[in-house]
Amino acid sequence: MRIIVIGAGIVGVSTAYRLQQGGHDVTLLDKGAVGMGCSFGNGGAISPDLCVPIALPGMLRRVPRWFADPLGPLVVRWSHLPRALPWMVRWIREGKDIQKVRANSNALRALHRRALMDYREMLGPDYSQHIEETGQIYVWQNDRSGPVEILAKTLREEHGVKAERLDSAEIQRIDPHLNPIYKNGLHFPENGHTLNPLRLVEALAERFRAHGGRIINDEFVSFSITSGAARSAKCVNGSYDAQAFVLATGIDGATMASRLGDSVSIQAERGYHVMLPAPNIRPSIKISNRDHMFGLTPMRDGVRISGTVEIANAAAPPNYKRAEALLTRAQEMYPSLNTEGATFWMGSRPSTPDSLPIVDRATTAHNVIYAFGHGHSGLTGAPMTARIVQALIEDAQPPIDAAPFRHSRF
Ligand SMILES: Cc1cc2nc3c(=O)[nH]c(=O)nc-3n(C[C@H](O)[C@H](O)[C@H](O)COP(=O)(O)OP(=O)(O)OC[C@H]3O[C@@H](n4cnc5c(N)ncnc54)[C@H](O)[C@@H]3O)c2cc1C
Repeated sequence: MRIIVIGAGIVGVSTAYRLQQGGHDVTLLDKGAVGMGCSFGNGGAISPDLCVPIALPGMLRRVPRWFADPLGPLVVRWSHLPRALPWMVRWIREGKDIQKVRANSNALRALHRRALMDYREMLGPDYSQHIEETGQIYVWQNDRSGPVEILAKTLREEHGVKAERLDSAEIQRIDPHLNPIYKNGLHFPENGHTLNPLRLVEALAERFRAHGGRIINDEFVSFSITSGAARSAKCVNGSYDAQAFVLATGIDGATMASRLGDSVSIQAERGYHVMLPAPNIRPSIKISNRDHMFGLTPMRDGVRISGTVEIANAAAPPNYKRAEALLTRAQEMYPSLNTEGATFWMGSRPSTPDSLPIVDRATTAHNVIYAFGHGHSGLTGAPMTARIVQALIEDAQPPIDAAPFRHSRF
């Protein structure tokens, strides 16, 4: 089939490559350069074990403490509150209903479980240039016996996730550079990270191109639709015909779906990163500070500090004070961190209230497939998303239950 994939982030590129491997004639289209959306600046974690949705019972109790700190892990730009409110209310509801939490957890685990295996298959001999399977650790300075952590532990156990408890001596053994103030930790030996998120997307795009794939630089505007099927993608500089289309447009997905008559709930959870090119020390493993909800990743070109959630309009100017605050927190963890040459970045996680992406057929055009809304874990969820999209396009059975990703849930 002739297929156009719109959006060249990690989701679009993985999907284009997977479809091409399935024998289709695929064109990838983006208004910017490959991988320069949210996929550019993420924390690089690839976490097959990630099965805990963001909205959980007990989470709300933490929110006032976070809100009290304008540079803390979660803030809402008050001017944006009226627009964000429906999404936030739905987020709260998702976290209150334990049945939903369990269902969301099952779907996340299925979506993520094969991530490293799939990247290995997609990248072939280049895999180890891009991905390290060295595990991840979470650390807490404080006691971690609250209800949120107890539920997270239960969910992980239900899914057979390997998570080893660490005391301060064990944390120190894994990462001797870390300030010895962390009393509790968890080690996930089966997770990994990429050494450069942008290079990973580019490498997949290069493989796609090497196998005859086309990449077009143009801005998608709308579909021309007749008899319930999209015939062409109308863009700023031209119109492109195909038999099927994939919308992998990240944060812009919801607007596009609404033009096709589908209402989905997506909010920009804006995150920040600081890249340190000459950090002086290198964490020996991808590490998450769970007291302050951010992480450090040892990457090829330095150390990346990333995290925080800012509920705001995706197009509003960044507040780089949030990135500076990340830097200060990271220096508490690694006092000898060299911050010279630090660069800052902000990007919008395309987040749904239930932490699950939308991977489904559009209602008014059966040959348009949505593939967006991956929130905090798109790098991890991209390969399985690509497999589901392929199944939808080929009218085949998806490799996992795709019902949780339907847009009709909104
Ligand atoms: C601070 C931070 C840390 C993160 N850490 C992690 C992590 O450690 N692990 C993890 O798994 N995930 C992480 N994430 C989440 C992850 O980065 C996202 O879920 C993922 O990048 C989403 O990918 P995408 O391809 O859907 O979107 P994008 O990468 O944003 O790609 C969408 C593309 O669509 C294009 N596009 C949009 N509109 C149009 C149009 N009209 N015409 C043509 N092209 C268009 C854009 O130009 C863009 O290139 C993090 C996110 C942030 C912000």
